[in-house]
Amino acid sequence: MPSFKCADLGMDCSFMAKSITKSGLMKKIQAHASEVHKITSIPADLRAKIESAVK
Ligand SMILES: [Zn+2]
Repeated sequence: MPSFKCADLGMDCSFMAKSITKSGLMKKIQAHASEVHKITSIPADLRAKIESAVK
């Protein structure tokens, strides 16, 4: 199951998410980024970092 941790991006944040699908996971990450990090739209370079951090 794909999972993601904010800490993997060097963020001082304990958030982690899991989802059955990668697209579902990206939705959870986007919601978290918007609520907690005030990143309402994820730029392409950050998206690439997130995708490489997803396991
Ligand atoms: Zn976070």
